[in-house]
Amino acid sequence: MSRQLLLVFTMLALTTMPGAASRKQAPFSVLAFYSANVEHDHVEFAEQAVRFFSEMASRDHFQFESTANWEDLNTKRLEHVDVVLWLNDSPHTNQERTAFEQYEERGGGWLGFHASAYNDSDTHWPWFVQFLGGAVFYGNNWPPLPATLRVDDKASPVTRRLPPQFVAPANEWYSWMPSPRANKDVKVLLTLDTSNYPLGFKDTLTSGDIPVVWTNTKYRMLYMNMGHGDKIFTDAHQNDLFEDALHWLGGRR
Ligand code: ZN
Repeated sequence: MSRQLLLVFTMLALTTMPGAASRKQAPFSVLAFYSANVEHDHVEFAEQAVRFFSEMASRDHFQFESTANWEDLNTKRLEHVDVVLWLNDSPHTNQERTAFEQYEERGGGWLGFHASAYNDSDTHWPWFVQFLGGAVFYGNNWPPLPATLRVDDKASPVTRRLPPQFVAPANEWYSWMPSPRANKDVKVLLTLDTSNYPLGFKDTLTSGDIPVVWTNTKYRMLYMNMGHGDKIFTDAHQNDLFEDALHWLGGRR
C-alpha cells in the first residue's frame, strides 16, 4: 500500500470512529414529553429537565424539542425523532400508546424518568410493563431524600464517567415488584445501595434489591428513577450520567 493510500485509509478510519467527532457529524433529534398538570414536584423536575437538555443540545450539537401535548406522540411526528424522553408521565390514550409501541418496535430510542414508569393495576398497558422489563411500582420513600447509588456496570458507555458509587441528590425512590432484575433481558446499571436503609420517614424503604437505572436490551431504551423535585440536577456525577445516557441512545441509530 502506498503511503498516500495509507493516509487516506487512516483518515477514513478516524472519521468513522465513535465519539465526540461523530456526534457532531451525525446530530440526532430528541423530543421530550411532559405533563404540566401532574404532581407539582414532577412538573418542577420536568421544567428543569427541559432547561438542562436544551443547554446540553446547544453544547453537544443535537436537536431538542419539548411538548406538553401528548397528542404529539403520533407516527408522523415521531418519524424524524431519534430519542423520545418522558419526563414525568406516560401516554394515556390507546392511540398514543400504539404509536409509541410501533416507534419502539422499529428501533426508536427512549429515556424515561421517575413517574414515567409508574404503573399499577389501573394502568392497563401490558406492553409497557414488558417494555420496562416487567417492573411494576411497589413502594417509595417519603420525603424525598439523597441516596447512595452503586454502579453495577462500569463498562457501559452510560456509566463510564461515574465513580463506583456516589450520593445522588434528594429524590423519591421507587421500589419494584417484580424487580426488573428478574428479567434476563434487563441490564441493571445503577442500584440503590443497601447502606441507605432505612430510607424515609413517612414512607420507608427498609430492605431489598432496588434497581434505579436499567435497560431492557430488547429495545433501545433506558429508565432512570430520578425525577422528583428541584434538586435532581445539582450533582455533577448524575448530570454526567444523564448526558452520557442521551448520547448512548442518540448515537446508536
Ligand atoms: Zn415523585
